[in-house]
Amino acid sequence: MFQDPDGVLHPRLDEFIVPDTHFVEENRGALQAIILTHAHEDHIGAILALWHRFPTRIYATPFTAEVLRRKVARSRDDRHNDILAQIVVVETNHWYQVGPFDIQWKPLTHSTLESNGLLIRTPVHSVFHTGDWKFDANPVIGPATPTPSEFALDDVCIDSVICDSTNALKPGHSVSEQVVMQGIRKTVAPLTGRVFVSCFASNVARLLSIAHVAKQTGRYLAVLGRAFENMISIARALDYWPKQLKIYSAAEVAYLPKEEVMYLVTGSQGEPRAALNMLTKGSFRGVDMEEGDSVIFSSMRIPGNEVEIARLIANIKARKVSVIENDMVEQDIHASGHPCRDELRHLYRHIKPKIMVATHGTAEHLYQHSLIAKECGVRRTLVGLNGDLFQLHPVSKRFEGYASTARVLLPSP
Ligand SMILES: [Zn+2]
Ligand SMILES: [Zn+2]
Repeated sequence: MFQDPDGVLHPRLDEFIVPDTHFVEENRGALQAIILTHAHEDHIGAILALWHRFPTRIYATPFTAEVLRRKVARSRDDRHNDILAQIVVVETNHWYQVGPFDIQWKPLTHSTLESNGLLIRTPVHSVFHTGDWKFDANPVIGPATPTPSEFALDDVCIDSVICDSTNALKPGHSVSEQVVMQGIRKTVAPLTGRVFVSCFASNVARLLSIAHVAKQTGRYLAVLGRAFENMISIARALDYWPKQLKIYSAAEVAYLPKEEVMYLVTGSQGEPRAALNMLTKGSFRGVDMEEGDSVIFSSMRIPGNEVEIARLIANIKARKVSVIENDMVEQDIHASGHPCRDELRHLYRHIKPKIMVATHGTAEHLYQHSLIAKECGVRRTLVGLNGDLFQLHPVSKRFEGYASTARVLLPSP
């Protein structure tokens, strides 16, 4: 831990914060498995640090499993190799029996590949857990989320829906990845200098869109940053990346005219060691960022990173390089991966569960989400905080503060 000038405590670079898992450890005997819905850090990021406290099988689809395997491969701790033998790779739309639960992974669209909802069936109650999702008819890669009328859940009568509240305060419908691709193309087309585009590495559809835009606008694309190289290599290994869509090394594009070059760069959140920050300092070997060039942020400012991002943008502008963010242009150059209010309405009106449990959001998000469900005819809504226990059958009930939810600081795995 270190203290910043405002007295706020932060983890050091070799430390990170994870939830206190005492409750799970104490109930290890009842734990059947770890079920992964998708490969985002807020869903798989703590596995290496915590798995040994309650070792059990880990179920995931091929992409998520591969992201996890590569995390193990990068780890300096050999104990993590035990995780590899416990990964069970699943196919979507097939039933798997996990202890007393029958589970199916149902493909949904989100902002990374192979995001899934979970259809969970028991003899007495059936649950649809959405994971993170949105309705996207044109996700650029992978299957589109079925429209509500096609939302086949294998004729299982869903008693409860457990659902993502991230955008429960946002009206309307989320933006499609296809629309973002068009927006990036429109943004890049008139630019004359080098173009640097930053986005979240796990969004393979976005990486693919940026590669397509480079080709369509007559630019050669080079990738700067290990996070992108890792994701593209996984996408290639699993045949998600078209072979004809080439990526060049920084050295290969270094001597091309500026207007023929596009770089995909890590560091949209102002991370100090990422490519974008190093470029602003002139310390990224073999790549220049100069007056007349442009940086496009195909990303959002994650709350908590504002200071670092503001510093990064000031440093970019100090080099007389233009900065383009989503709210500065008419077209969409970024899209959220979570459902807005109309999408939530569609889901509840189609599935018609008896109970909904709001997850993934602040207290305000969870509460507003519960009002949407009620408006759509869901009779029972359960809203709580981390650590509350929800009973769904035979009577739905919330046990407040059932488990401890402290945070603990661990060395980086
Ligand atoms: Zn996610
Ligand atoms: Zn998430």
